[in-house]
Amino acid sequence: MVVEEVRRQEEIARHARAVALAKQGRWVNWESVENRKLSWSEIWGMESNRLCFIIRATYDVLPSPINLQLWFGKDPSCPLCTVPATLKHILVGCRTSLTQGRYTWTHNQVLRCLAEKVECKRKSINPQPFTNQEERQFSSTFVREGDKPRTSPSNPDLGPLKAARYWQIQVHLDQRLIFPTEIVTTTLRPDLVLWSNSQKLAYVIELTVPWEEAIEEAFERKKLRYANLAAEAEDRGWKIKVRQVEVGCRGFVVSTTAKLLREIGIRGQAQRQAIRDLANTAERASHWLWLKRANITWAPKAVS
Ligand SMILES: [Zn+2]
Repeated sequence: MVVEEVRRQEEIARHARAVALAKQGRWVNWESVENRKLSWSEIWGMESNRLCFIIRATYDVLPSPINLQLWFGKDPSCPLCTVPATLKHILVGCRTSLTQGRYTWTHNQVLRCLAEKVECKRKSINPQPFTNQEERQFSSTFVREGDKPRTSPSNPDLGPLKAARYWQIQVHLDQRLIFPTEIVTTTLRPDLVLWSNSQKLAYVIELTVPWEEAIEEAFERKKLRYANLAAEAEDRGWKIKVRQVEVGCRGFVVSTTAKLLREIGIRGQAQRQAIRDLANTAERASHWLWLKRANITWAPKAVS
């Protein structure tokens, strides 16, 4: 009886901590997207139909069925599911497209791009010798959620990844992700887990590719998903960073993604390039969805 009561109290405490962790979330909106700058050379080198898509998709003035009804009184139905079809419906909201795997394909294109950036960083960090400065930094850079990192001008921020070695990565792409059991046993499958057994540090990353005006909605829907997992892992001595990141389906990278890149040490020119690559990948994938909007059958395409 006493053991049961202790367990119950532990469960209550864990849940309270999980809720507290979740409450540390933040709101994002259009203002949270990174500026998307297209250089003259990019515009010059871009196919005209792609450039046309970016501009018209941003202002939602593509000839979607609903716009064609407004402009010319045509049938507003989605060719796949008969619901009135806005651009949003075509890119993120059609149930038939969802069932056919079109949105999973778009999501995975962007995830692959993000995973390549993270993997590149992981590979560059792991072979590096551990310096005394990094050891001193360990406790100050990888702090618990809500705590402030302790830094001083004489002790520059090396980034949490450099606080450990033997980083491992799993991505929920070609193989089904099985969450590392050394952290916790769970059936949850985040998009990416990056972890180091040596220092018991882990990033749990969940990517969403939402309609830009619905970024807050996407964040809210997912924010509690990993709270219990993080609390349980922390009970076992792990320091967990759950990161929900978003790349808008029309190619606008949300600041959550830029922040993650910075946090894991992808900064400066490398960060700008990563943001450009993520934006292009999302926008190219959505362009393909747009081109195939009236095709009943679905055939994915490699986007690079
Ligand atoms: Zn539809």
